Amino acid sequence: MKIVLISDVHANLEALVTVKKSIRNEGADSILFVGDIVGYGANPNECIEILQDLTDKAVAGNHDWAAIGKNSTEYFNPAAKEAIEWTHDQLTEASKAFLNTLPLRGELQQCLYVHATPENPQDWDYISTTWEAHASFQAFSQQVCFIGHSHQPAIFIKPAEGDTLLEQSTHIMLKQHNRYLINIGSVGQPRDGTPLAGYGIYDTKKNEYRLIRVQYDINTAQQKIIDAGLDPFLAQRLSIGM
Ligand code: ZN
Repeated sequence: MKIVLISDVHANLEALVTVKKSIRNEGADSILFVGDIVGYGANPNECIEILQDLTDKAVAGNHDWAAIGKNSTEYFNPAAKEAIEWTHDQLTEASKAFLNTLPLRGELQQCLYVHATPENPQDWDYISTTWEAHASFQAFSQQVCFIGHSHQPAIFIKPAEGDTLLEQSTHIMLKQHNRYLINIGSVGQPRDGTPLAGYGIYDTKKNEYRLIRVQYDINTAQQKIIDAGLDPFLAQRLSIGM
């Protein structure tokens, strides 16, 4: 089974449309969404519409819940908070209803997927270090857990014996006795120093995971953010992938 995972679209229509085409070329048996369809970008409703059509299952991100008032924006930085307020005003009733249906956890075959952490997804903490990953491995029993949230691709490995490891690779063959916590990066606002849109493919037959990166029309996405009156930094960061 070929499972495609996408996360952190953040209302970036140009990136999502390009990723959708790339997924069509790769082929997929199931497409899972790992949270944050809205926030930061200028096309929240359009992205929600595509997502509903594209994905089989989806979970909520902190921005998705914040945009409909299910989550506080207290800990958001000023640009993110302003963008969430703007998003809230743009959302149609249908978009709000969709965001309201998103759960915190999803499961498919031997995979769990959550936006932030498997232990307390509603707290929206980050998993950046092997120490944090080590704690998260205790909280799920599946072989693989996919996450998003940091917008930084990463593969944490828990061997049958020994310490948790971090691999920054874009390709990995999964071993039967290991367990994995995989951050699939971001479609619409990558923060690993590469501006390319990213998503993951897990082939359960081949036991293979790959991170795919695709070029998209960054200029148009940036111009829309400026035209919407959002913080220009949200446009600038797209070209540097930060
Ligand atoms: Zn995000």
